[in-house]
Amino acid sequence: MDKIKMTTPIVEMDGDEMTRILWQMIKDNLLLPYIDLKTEYYDLGLEYRDQTDDKVTTDSAFATKKYKVAVKCATITPNAARVKEYNLKEMWKSPNGTIRAILDGTVFRAPIVVKGIDPCVVNWKKPITIARHAYGDVYKGSEMKIPGAGKVELVYTSADGTESRELVHNFDSPGIVQGMHNINGSIDSFARSCFNYALDTKQDLWFATKDTISKKYDHTFKDIFQDIFDAEYENLFKEAGIEYFYTLIDDAVARVMKSEGGYIWACKNYDGDVMSDMISSAFGSLAMMTSVLVSPDGDFEYEAAHGTVQRHYYKHLKGEETSTNSVATIFAWTGALRKRGELDDNQELAAFADKLEKATIDTIEAGEMTKDLALITTIKKPTVLNSEEFIKAIATRL
Ligand code: NAP
Ligand code: MG
Repeated sequence: MDKIKMTTPIVEMDGDEMTRILWQMIKDNLLLPYIDLKTEYYDLGLEYRDQTDDKVTTDSAFATKKYKVAVKCATITPNAARVKEYNLKEMWKSPNGTIRAILDGTVFRAPIVVKGIDPCVVNWKKPITIARHAYGDVYKGSEMKIPGAGKVELVYTSADGTESRELVHNFDSPGIVQGMHNINGSIDSFARSCFNYALDTKQDLWFATKDTISKKYDHTFKDIFQDIFDAEYENLFKEAGIEYFYTLIDDAVARVMKSEGGYIWACKNYDGDVMSDMISSAFGSLAMMTSVLVSPDGDFEYEAAHGTVQRHYYKHLKGEETSTNSVATIFAWTGALRKRGELDDNQELAAFADKLEKATIDTIEAGEMTKDLALITTIKKPTVLNSEEFIKAIATRL
């Protein structure tokens, strides 16, 4: 059999621990036998990040701007314990944070739905994708504890020195205060990424804030979305047969619970943080959640939503058997291959991505799965496979 040819490389960002082990197994068993795989390889494993003073992370992000499609393995975000464990020169920043800052993107997270792993919400039939704005608000807030009576104001000093003020509160007893901000340019990028992703995946887009209460802050989000939609996307949405729908956040939450899924839910930073954990756990498992960073220029970086599965890795190092779920990492690869196929008009490559996803889902639906899924499936007497057996079972179907 001839291998599928590629014209443009995908940026490959290797990672850490158990997911690094799965990464190689996936390539060896599911990709290299079928594809003449062209990647530009960046080793984002913590050791090499440390050796290069984290330059490799920056380089990989710029390569993504060049080639437009990347696939990333989970990576360690160092904390004090990791600095010791890996004898690091510095507590390097989160690679995802670095890449996101360079690509200025929005993160879309979607569950992989299979029969036998049923969502807790019985009417959810299709995936719900969360789009989280990843800049500002409470994540870049300033806070004060107010010790007693006194006045708190917001003060804006413009470049020419003119001041404007807004009273926050006249305290007559101790309390707390918080100031937060966002930037129109960042909201603009967020909106465009959401509209583009909706068109790309042919799904409706929902957006919600609390604009009735927050008449300037949240209302600005609403207005920026609406202005861009009216000026640039209304017709494109009509042609694609999809809808943009704005409502209040509490109404959105109520509608989400009653819906059957199948749309993108755009959330402000805090809402997205909270709601993505609700959605992923209600759909079954973090190991069945994909994540893609989409930049306003149309660069795509695919990854699994989970981390490096450290506990399993330590078992693996001790020579013990692991049963780590590789589905989200496989879907990161298929997402990237399909996108590469679309951009290069390489139908064979895009079709391969579909087949690999189908083989993966069919394997689980036939009752062959890793331990995490076996614990929650409604399938009777599932066969629990180890990390490698599961990937081989998919290869057999493929
Ligand atoms: P984690 O890797 O997501 O794993 C937490 C737990 O969830 C695991 O111990 C395991 O539970 C379960 N789990 C997650 N993925 C699984 C899979 N594919 N198959 C089976 N079970 C799975 O989070 P963590 O252990 O807290 O973090 C480890 C490292 O990952 C950290 O250094 C963190 O910085 C990094 N991280 C990276 C990313 C990223 O690169 N995007 C995201 C999050 C975290 P059981 O142990 O009960 O089986
Ligand atoms: Mg969170």
